[in-house]
Amino acid sequence: MAKILIVEDNALNIKLFCDLLTAHGHETQAVTDSREAIDVARSFAPDLVITDIQLPHVSGLDLIGMLREDPALKDVPVMAVTAYSAIGDEERIRGAGAQAYVSKPISVARFAQTVEGLLSPPQTEAGTAADAETPGKESDQAPEDTT
Ligand code: MN
Repeated sequence: MAKILIVEDNALNIKLFCDLLTAHGHETQAVTDSREAIDVARSFAPDLVITDIQLPHVSGLDLIGMLREDPALKDVPVMAVTAYSAIGDEERIRGAGAQAYVSKPISVARFAQTVEGLLSPPQTEAGTAADAETPGKESDQAPEDTT
C-alpha cells in the first residue's frame, strides 16, 4: 500500500492508472494540470509520482526537474509515461531525474511491475535500471540499445 500521485492530462489514462493502482491496493491522487502538481505533491506526500511527459503548461520533463529540486520531494521516485519512444527520449527522461520509463500504450503487466519495483527497490544500488530485467513475456516493447 503506497500513495501514488498521477500527473496526466488524459482522462482515460487517469482512469486506467487509478483503477490499476487501486486494484493493487494503492491510494491514488490525480492531477490534470501540471502547474498544480508540485503543490499537490507537497500536501499528498506520495511514495511515487507517475507523470505523463506530454502535458500542457509544464511538460513532464520540466516537472521532473522541479520535483528533483524540491527539498521535500527530491527523493520520491518518478515513473514517466509517454507516447514518445524516439531514440534518446528515455535518456532525456532519465537524465531529468526519472527512475523509470514506460511507453504508451502501456502494457498492464509492465506498468504494474515497474510500479512495484520502484516502491520496493533492490537493496543494492549498483546502477542497474529498475526495469532492466523484464521477463520476456511481452516482447513488443523494443528497447533501444544504448551503448
Ligand atoms: Mn498528455
